[in-house]
Amino acid sequence: MTIRNELASLANSLWTATARPAEDFPPLGLDATADVAIVGGGFTGLSAALHLAERGVSVVLLEAEQPGWGASGRNGGQVIPGLKEDPEAIERIYGPGMGGRVNRLAAAAPDLVFDLIDKHAIACDAVRGGWLQPAHDAAGLRTQQARVEQLQARGAPVELLDRAATAQRLGTSSYLGGMLDPRGGAVHPLDYATGLAAAAARAGARLHGNSPVRSLGRSGSGWLLRTAGGSVTAGKVLLCTNGYTDGLLPRLARSVIAVRSVQVATEPLPQTLRADMLRGGLAASDTRRLLVYFRLDAAGRLLIGGRGAQGEKAIEAAQERLRRRALQLYPQLAGVRWAHHWGGYVALTEDHLPHLHEPQPGLVTGLGYNGRGVAMATAMGKVLAERAAGAEPADLDFPVTGLREVPFHALRRPIVATIAAWYAVRDRLGF
Ligand SMILES: Cc1cc2nc3c(=O)[nH]c(=O)nc-3n(C[C@H](O)[C@H](O)[C@H](O)COP(=O)(O)OP(=O)(O)OC[C@H]3O[C@@H](n4cnc5c(N)ncnc54)[C@H](O)[C@@H]3O)c2cc1C
Repeated sequence: MTIRNELASLANSLWTATARPAEDFPPLGLDATADVAIVGGGFTGLSAALHLAERGVSVVLLEAEQPGWGASGRNGGQVIPGLKEDPEAIERIYGPGMGGRVNRLAAAAPDLVFDLIDKHAIACDAVRGGWLQPAHDAAGLRTQQARVEQLQARGAPVELLDRAATAQRLGTSSYLGGMLDPRGGAVHPLDYATGLAAAAARAGARLHGNSPVRSLGRSGSGWLLRTAGGSVTAGKVLLCTNGYTDGLLPRLARSVIAVRSVQVATEPLPQTLRADMLRGGLAASDTRRLLVYFRLDAAGRLLIGGRGAQGEKAIEAAQERLRRRALQLYPQLAGVRWAHHWGGYVALTEDHLPHLHEPQPGLVTGLGYNGRGVAMATAMGKVLAERAAGAEPADLDFPVTGLREVPFHALRRPIVATIAAWYAVRDRLGF
């Protein structure tokens, strides 16, 4: 990833174009001390800063650009309950005790998001219109059925919709059915991020923008972080850099695979075109291996996203594929203007689950949301705050695991591209 590419990928972002005015946080310009230093101003770092400051812990947050510049200000804004893996798999992986806690944390993550928005009066077009996962083929529908059964057994208010009910909610008959989860919803992600930043600052956190942390090392029993303009000495450090993890901790960067996701959005659609689409503010992500996610924003623009690629030409091709896919779903959009296109990096993990690591005493990190971090990164930030405030690992609702590098990480680009091409074939041929 290069900063130039990343700036280019933001230039035509729907969220930058429609964001409410937000505070620009000044660069760090002195040598500061704090109980906790946070690197990264996305949902993970901002939620951690807010929760720590509310506990009266002194906290400094350092963001390379401005809060929300990473994935948090670029995503689809879908507030999705749960993780990529189903509850039974999570209980198998972590055991019934910790697995149950992780499931409950992920299930309640949307509540946390909407409660924070209410509590701190964050204006971000929040709507709790539910989340629908429509099935594109029979295998996808069977997976949805099993998922619904597992979730219902754990008290989740989800239901399996048949083909007609799915078509009625989405306004397209392209799917065979799907799981409706009323706990989900949507936000303007950049406004949510800048709103969290403002709330954290009001609670007493010291936030600094344009302050890339260039080095991180031990200092006595704590840590010393240096930026171009100053330093922070802190007892504990939270690394919240997810898909934008750089060379600060190379092992951490090699524990995830950063892949690009891209989105395109129409101009605001006339009511006549969108009356039947995505009723009640519904957000949707389908069951394809290379899934597409789509919803209407507050002004009635359709935004649709999916897997991107590396390189300008490949990104343009991915955006064109999304526009074509949107027309297959909603043929009435033929002729509408596509006003925005943008993208960013998500962090994938080998087990498709987020990770919480503590690579050294007092150095804690949470990352790897596999493209599902609006709710989960907010929840992870709260867990990181609890750990930094002194909770024991056994008392957290997410397990602290050893940091493991992805094998052959240097070959990630060609490997990911090959897997993506294979998935595209399987999605097309349905096996
Ligand atoms: C295009 C796209 C669409 C998505 N859609 C959805 C969706 O609809 N729903 C959903 O749930 N999830 C979605 N996601 C995923 C979600 O956005 C992320 O999981 C979430 O935002 C991660 O938040 P974060 O705070 O961990 O990381 P980020 O928001 O990426 O923040 C990391 C920050 O760290 C900073 N940083 C890195 N290195 C340094 C350093 N050395 N010094 C200082 N700062 C540093 C970066 O500048 C960056 O701002 C999407 C992601 C993308 C890219």
